[in-house]
Order: sequence, then C-alpha cells, then structure tokens
Amino acid sequence: ATFESLGIIKPLLEALEQLKYKTPTDIQVEAIPHALEGRDIIGVAETGSGKTAAFALPILQKLWEEPKGLFACVLAPTRELAYQISQQFESLGSSMGARCAVIVGGMDKVAQAIALAKRPHIVVATPGRLYDHLEDTKGFSLRGIKFLVMDEADRLLDMDFGPIIDKILKVIPKERTTYLFSATMTSKVAKLQRASLSNPIRVEV
Ligand code: AMP
Repeated sequence: ATFESLGIIKPLLEALEQLKYKTPTDIQVEAIPHALEGRDIIGVAETGSGKTAAFALPILQKLWEEPKGLFACVLAPTRELAYQISQQFESLGSSMGARCAVIVGGMDKVAQAIALAKRPHIVVATPGRLYDHLEDTKGFSLRGIKFLVMDEADRLLDMDFGPIIDKILKVIPKERTTYLFSATMTSKVAKLQRASLSNPIRVEV
C-alpha cells in the first residue's frame, strides 16, 4: 500500500514525503481507511508501530476538509508522550496551518492558558492538567471538538486517570469520533471503550 492508495490527500502526502515516510506501517494500513470513513477505532498497537501517524493523519485530513476552531483533543499518560504526539501533528500538519498546543502537568499554567487563547486546532494533554484548565481557564472548553483520542489507554488507566477521563467525557460532544489506542486490552480498557466509543472497528498489529 501507499499513503495515496489509503486515501491521504496531497498536502499530507507532501508532508510525508518531506519526513521520508515512504510506506505506511501495518497499523497505518489497517486504521487509516476506516478512519477516513469516519469510524471510531480501537487500535491495539505498541509505541514504535507508527500508531501516532495512524490517528494524526486522518484527523489532519478532516481538519483540512473542514477547518474549525478547537478540533481534536488527544489524551496521553505522560508529558513525554504528549510532546512526541504534538511533534508529529506539527511535522505532518504545519504546512497546512494546523496549530497544536501541549497541556501537561508540571509546566507553567499561565503560559498554557495563553497557548489555549491562541485557538489551537489540536490539544494534546495529560488528563489532570487538561481538566484544571477546563475548570479554571476562562473561555476554554472542549464543547466544539470533533475528535477525541485516548493514547496508551492501558497506561492512562494504570495511572488512575480513569475518573478524570470520565469527567472529560461529560464535557465533550456526544457526536464525535473517538480513537482509543492501547498496547494491551485489559478489562479496564474494555470498560473505557464501552463508555466512550460507538460501534468501533478494532485494528491490531
Ligand atoms: P509511533 O509508534 O507513533 O511512536 O512511531 C514510531 C516512529 O516511527 C516515529 O518516530 C515516527 O516518526 C516513525 N514513523 C511513523 N510512521 C512511519 C512511516 N510510515 N514510515 C517511516 N517512519 C514512520
């Protein structure tokens, strides 16, 4: 397969060429066509599989087709992973004008509030700090998002982010697309999946 045969559009194909991603990885081949059809997706895949681009490319493609304010929220268990995810969004999407903000614990909250006020399209966050901003930062909400991604869901739940994720689920649109990625399918992940995804396709590598 090629990225073009998976349905990826020109501006993203050009970014992929610059990044020297020549062929899609297995998880990208499996996930991208379903994602472009608008399905919710459960991806069972480890770091290193190319899972980040598997969800970033469809989100960026939909953003290109329907430019909006805050478009997608990505939840990650750690600061490091959040920065890695945002770097991928930026390297794939900056030429099409996609803006990304990283909202993680341990970093300056005022600077984050300023970043949120600049109206990013994508917020990549650890759940605790994101919820702090939902409560405290005037004018910031997730009410308009079209996509929710929960990355490394098994680790999110191991780190006891479950209750905060439940609260976040209550303040985002029911009408949205949801992607859940996890290295393992534990019973806790299955429960989160039932609470947050609708008629998902499961892809596994
Ligand atoms: P991930 O599993 O998302 O953490 O990705 C692992 C690494 O593979 C990252 O450094 C990506 O930049 C890289 N990568 C993702 N997709 C591709 C691809 N199709 N071709 C080459 N490298 C890729």
